[in-house]
Amino acid sequence: MIFGGLVLVNESVECADLSLSSKGLSSIILETVIMSRVLVADPIAESAVKSIKEAGIEVVIRNKDADGPLEEQIKGFDGVIVRSASVISKEVIDAADILKVVVRAGVGLDNVDQEAAKAKGVKVLNTPEAPTVSVAEMVISLMFALARNIAQADSLMKNELWEKKKLSGTELWEKTLGIIGFGRIGQEVCKRVRAFDMRVLAYDVLDIDEICHTLGAERVDLQYLIQNSDYISLHVPLIPQTKGMIGENQLKEMKKTAFLINTSRGGVVDENALLKALNAGDIAGAALDVFEEEPTSNWDLVKHSKLIATPHLSSSTSEAQDRVGELTASKMIAELR
Ligand code: NAD
Repeated sequence: MIFGGLVLVNESVECADLSLSSKGLSSIILETVIMSRVLVADPIAESAVKSIKEAGIEVVIRNKDADGPLEEQIKGFDGVIVRSASVISKEVIDAADILKVVVRAGVGLDNVDQEAAKAKGVKVLNTPEAPTVSVAEMVISLMFALARNIAQADSLMKNELWEKKKLSGTELWEKTLGIIGFGRIGQEVCKRVRAFDMRVLAYDVLDIDEICHTLGAERVDLQYLIQNSDYISLHVPLIPQTKGMIGENQLKEMKKTAFLINTSRGGVVDENALLKALNAGDIAGAALDVFEEEPTSNWDLVKHSKLIATPHLSSSTSEAQDRVGELTASKMIAELR
């Protein structure tokens, strides 16, 4: 705390042994004056708090019940850490006096008023890279589950039914996976399926020629990808351009034997159109980890026999959670240094 730091310097002069050398005193002054303070507004991993403290930064853990509104508490903090619960509104930003950085431990930034932060020169960071491997592995799990009817087989067995003939599947070997959105997660999925000898088609709005070449994918246009893939996996953000990007027309253009996987954001796939396509046999099946509304109440879709549904589970691994803490700490430390 800069103001507090100066007070502390005075106190330390008074309390210190009078034989303290001038060099020792100046280093105390330097350390105290530059000591930054971080408010942890939502719970984060203990190890992350420890790393920030070890970097010489004072950490205050907010107690929501006792500490009053964030607008009042934010004064005197150089950094604040939030997950999804605490809201860094314009009021909070305006009330802050020395705030330099907000780190959102996680992916979305809906709970931070980014415009207000920008206007006041407060940097806003998040940790979107933390769940990349977990999501990529989830996609692989869902591909195998679709190919081998694993969810249906388990459900039948639990109903004491041995329906072996109904459950015959297909291999992934030499099939084609179309990846829409060739960013962090799309690329990790590509790396993994190349080990299964799958052909990978990639579509992105960015220039992905070089990375496609490196990872052994073919860059194609969206229509070619939709028409020629045995599996399509979505890895785009939900923005106006991607809302409903897989709708009635795209589902009709897919192979009747193809599977669709969405672990990106609900809304990228039109759920009504998907239900119709599954009923009509336009595609062989689908797996959804994300829904237009969450928690979803689209039970007609969830209960469809050709659909595997998971409740936004892709990043729910202990490793991804640990990584959120590590990245949050390292980003905060880097900014305040
Ligand atoms: P990323 O930013 O690294 O990659 C997204 C890619 O999509 C970029 O390459 C971008 O150029 C591309 N893109 C944007 N608009 C496009 C368009 N109109 N057409 C084609 N490509 C387009 O993001 P990421 O970390 O790979 O995450 C991908 C998605 O996964 C995001 O929606 C993210 O929110 C979601 N996600 C979901 C979970 C989960 O738990 N299910 C966890 C993490 C991320």
